[in-house]
Amino acid sequence: MNDDSTASEQRLIRLESVRNQGRATHVQSKILRREDITEDLWLIWIEKPEGFIFKAGQYCTIGHDGVERAYSIVSAPHEETLELFIELVPLPDGVLTPKLWELGVGNTVSIRPRAKGRFVFKPSLPNQLLVATVTGVVPYVSFVRDYFHANKTGHHFYIIEGASYKNELVYDTELAALATEHPDMITYIPTLSRPTEERNAGWSGETGRANEVVESWITDLGLFPEDTIVYACGHPGMIEDVKAKLLPRGFPLEEERFWKQD
Ligand SMILES: Cc1cc2nc3c(=O)[nH]c(=O)nc-3n(C[C@H](O)[C@H](O)[C@H](O)COP(=O)(O)OP(=O)(O)OC[C@H]3O[C@@H](n4cnc5c(N)ncnc54)[C@H](O)[C@@H]3O)c2cc1C
Repeated sequence: MNDDSTASEQRLIRLESVRNQGRATHVQSKILRREDITEDLWLIWIEKPEGFIFKAGQYCTIGHDGVERAYSIVSAPHEETLELFIELVPLPDGVLTPKLWELGVGNTVSIRPRAKGRFVFKPSLPNQLLVATVTGVVPYVSFVRDYFHANKTGHHFYIIEGASYKNELVYDTELAALATEHPDMITYIPTLSRPTEERNAGWSGETGRANEVVESWITDLGLFPEDTIVYACGHPGMIEDVKAKLLPRGFPLEEERFWKQD
């Protein structure tokens, strides 16, 4: 999703909500569990409405107090609940997230009955290079949960996940465990952009922004445009830079922007 399509996605949500006034276009879904990660990152698990189907990597549209936004789904389609990983955009900029931040177990959000999005697993090439910043890892967690659940083979997922601080790498334990269990199918490369800060004490992994390290990893891993599809999800600046570096080299690239850069 590029800048224009991020904006048009949000426009579409508003348009649909006007068009559908008076019709039962969304249902209420209860928050079943909440886990706070940092002062601005948290996870919620909400009820999956009856008949709600989706492909790994798609997003749902949830709302509260009449405001709706898109959220990629962490869960794989076979899971019983919808898991979401959300970043708080504080007031006065954020609209829905400050409202969601106040909600806990037992509260409800509205959810549209259909998942959407084209940022899904594309199986045509054996190497899948997945580049993310913080919440941008969400669709990739869904991809790999679904892939291993379905006992698929024939692909290798290389996940490069960038964050400022190590506690923002929320799915690191799950992804590192999968990489240890299936070294021929998944490689997990977390990277921190502020490795020397106190909050990152003890970090011995990769350093630098995801977009800064992507090319050297492509070389080290021996990935080529003929056998590798690249996905970029999250921060629009990261996506722009990854595109600027890899499109001229001929890599096929899929993108999902979570917001528009001012
Ligand atoms: C397809 C899609 C999937 C998405 N999936 C997720 C997801 O899994 N998790 C998630 O947290 N968000 C996700 N988003 C973003 C989400 O839809 C909201 O825009 C976001 O949660 C902020 O909502 P808000 O109403 O508080 O602020 P908005 O009114 O949406 O935005 C207010 C301002 O903050 C900017 N902004 C929005 N998000 C961020 C951010 N994270 N960091 C910095 N600036 C930001 C906007 O560009 C705008 O200028 C997704 C967006 C799209 C289009």
